Amino acid sequence: MYKFAFCFFSAFSMASPALLMRVVASAYSVAEKAATIVRNVMAAGDLAIVEKTGANDLQTKADRLVQMSICASLARKFPKVTIIGEEELTTDEVTEELIEDGHCEEILKRTCPAQYAGIKEEELVIWVDPLDGTKEYTEGLLDHVTVLIGIAYGGKAIAGVINQPYYNYEAGADAVLGRTIWGVLGIGAFGFQLTEAPAGKHIIVTTRSHSSTLVNDCISALNPDSVIRVGGAGNKVIQLIEGKASAYVFASPGCKKWDTCAPEAILHAVGGKITDIHGNSFQYNKEVKHMNSAGVLATLRNYDYYASRIPNTVKQSLMP
Ligand code: AMP
Ligand code: MG
Ligand code: MG
Repeated sequence: MYKFAFCFFSAFSMASPALLMRVVASAYSVAEKAATIVRNVMAAGDLAIVEKTGANDLQTKADRLVQMSICASLARKFPKVTIIGEEELTTDEVTEELIEDGHCEEILKRTCPAQYAGIKEEELVIWVDPLDGTKEYTEGLLDHVTVLIGIAYGGKAIAGVINQPYYNYEAGADAVLGRTIWGVLGIGAFGFQLTEAPAGKHIIVTTRSHSSTLVNDCISALNPDSVIRVGGAGNKVIQLIEGKASAYVFASPGCKKWDTCAPEAILHAVGGKITDIHGNSFQYNKEVKHMNSAGVLATLRNYDYYASRIPNTVKQSLMP
C-alpha cells in the first residue's frame, strides 16, 4: 500500500512539473533552434539588413526569423503568457519549419523553487531578444552574438536562457560549436563555468558600437586597469560570470528590457547584481517602458565598489 502510494505520488509529480520549469525547459530548446537559424542565415550569405533607427541599429533576416520562431513556438505551448519581442515584424505568417516543440529533460527534472511553484501562465512575461549583437553579427564578430529569452514574474527577472550560437567558433573544427546557458533564481545557472575575475583588478566591459562621450567619461572615472569593448548585453554578462571582466558599465540609454531580462536572471541566480547607473533595479512587467534610459551597471562581485564611483555628473545626465 505504501509502495503504491509512493509510486502514484512520484508518477503524478513527474507528469506535471511546475509551469516555470516547463517554460524554461522549452525556452532552452527554442533557443537552440534559434541558434541554428542564426548560423544558417549567415552561412547562406544574404543577411537582408534593414536599418531601424539608424546605421547602428540594424535588423537582419536572422533577427526576423528567430523572433518568429521563438515567439510562435512559445506562444503555441503557453498561449496565455505575454511574450514581448524586440523586432516589429510586418508579417505574422510563421511556417511550420520555424516551430520548435522540444524541451530540455534535465531542466524538467529540477525542482521548482517553492515561491514560483504556483505561477500561472497569465502571470509570466517573456522578453525576447532574437539576436543580441546584430551590429557585430553583420561585421563577422560572431562570438559576440547571443539569443536571449528572459522570463519575468511580478516585475522581476526570475529565469533566463542565453544561447551563444558561435561559442567556440575559433577553437577549431573539433570544438563543439555553440552553447546554451540557463538559470533560475533559487536554483542557479548552468552551461558555463562560474569564474571570478582577477582579484584586485578593475576590468570594465562596455559597448563596442554604441559609445559616447558620457560612456567613456564614466569609464575613465572608474580608473580601470583595462577596458574590453564588445557587442551585446548577453555577451557582456557572460564576460562577468566567466571572470573576464569585473564590471559591465554602460552610461547611456539604448539598451532595452529584452537585452537585460535573461542576462539579469542568470547573473542574479549566481549572486551578481545588475541595475541602472543610479542603482535602481529593472522592472519587467508587461506595461514597463522598454528602454533602460539610465544605462546599465552590472557585476558578479563588488557591486558597491563600482556603484559608489559613478560620478554624479553622469547620473544627472541619465534620467530613469
Ligand atoms: P551594445 O553594448 O552596444 O552591444 O548594446 C547592448 C544592446 O543595447 C544591444 O542590443 C544594442 O542594440 C542595444 N543598444 C545600445 N545602445 C543602443 C543605441 N544607441 N541604439 C540602439 N540600440 C542600442
Ligand atoms: Mg540586443
Ligand atoms: Mg536584438
